[in-house]
Amino acid sequence: MIPIAKPSIGDKEMSLVREAVESGWVSSQGAFLEKFEAAFAAFCGTKYCVLTFNGSVAIQLLLEALKVGHNDEVIVPDLTFVATANMVKVTGAQPVLVDVTEDGWCIDPDKVVEKITSKTKAIIAVHLYGNVADMDKLRDIATKHKLYLIEDAAEAHGASLNGKKVGGLGDAGTFSFYGNKIITTGEGGAITTNSEEIALRAKFLRDHGMSKEKRYWHPELGFNYRMTNIQAALGLAQLSQIEIFLADRDRIFKSYKKKLEPHGLILNPQIDGIKPVNWMTSVVAGQLTRDSRDKLLESMKACDIEVRPFFYPLSHFPMYLSETNPVTEKLSATGFNLPTFFGMEEEAITQTSTILLEQLKNIK
Ligand SMILES: *Cc1c(COP(=O)(O)O)cnc(C)c1O
Repeated sequence: MIPIAKPSIGDKEMSLVREAVESGWVSSQGAFLEKFEAAFAAFCGTKYCVLTFNGSVAIQLLLEALKVGHNDEVIVPDLTFVATANMVKVTGAQPVLVDVTEDGWCIDPDKVVEKITSKTKAIIAVHLYGNVADMDKLRDIATKHKLYLIEDAAEAHGASLNGKKVGGLGDAGTFSFYGNKIITTGEGGAITTNSEEIALRAKFLRDHGMSKEKRYWHPELGFNYRMTNIQAALGLAQLSQIEIFLADRDRIFKSYKKKLEPHGLILNPQIDGIKPVNWMTSVVAGQLTRDSRDKLLESMKACDIEVRPFFYPLSHFPMYLSETNPVTEKLSATGFNLPTFFGMEEEAITQTSTILLEQLKNIK
């Protein structure tokens, strides 16, 4: 079986995790937390990083820190992992779904403008499948309408726009370190920002809103969304290898692209000024329908290749049921992700591509 993803955990990880466990600092205090926080902020080019125990709560914590809640609206793309919208909903705010662009697969700034109301508080741009949203246009819109601009960069560690890394392109960004992400801490997440105010407020709410001056005094409702020192040790070891991980994922992308593009398949967008990362090699087969795409994925699975469909449009889910968005519909129905992981051998890329092209012929 060729898996869709797998983490690369080696001696470096084992040694730092062992050190964390042996130190006795197994909960949310310890040297690895400070080190990982500083190193991840430096990697993203931001002043601050606030670690959390997963990427979903990083989104919630950030929204809470920005005082987004009841009676507010937050604009999110229709095509994303459900966490982006769920965490908006958890704060009491209403996610408003907007279509993505055909050429970039991320939220469409022109359509964002149409959905802004007096209740809109923030825009969450998702850097879907390692691509980067049109942050320049979004920045202008956010500034004009006095909205927060947030990046959900859970799938795009290290991607950049005009040389500036994601996580530092808006007011704040969030990341996930889940097992299938570019680097992992098992479960884990982070908020990145250049705003001291946002960082301090997120840290305060992360720790049950405990007063800095007076221990066990809680002037506000808060949460325990802290990361553990053991997770941070794993993350620090992973982060020290991220350039190698990203370069290898690039190699995998180029190899797939060479094999698949001549056959009319569309791979992850390449846009001027944007340096995407290859989180999961993504393919759009425009000639398919949702049914035939699903059949294709079934037949590949039968050949021991794990493939996954693009996310469903959020507008199809009972809790977010709303008018459909044409580009999201099309991409969601005809897109899928191919196995992509550090160290994936050329032979496995060839095998995956060959089987994909063969099965595609059978389907048409
Ligand atoms: C993975 C992911 C998240 C959530 O991260 P978890 O760590 O799994 O909670 C949020 N948004 C997007 C786009 C993701 O891919």
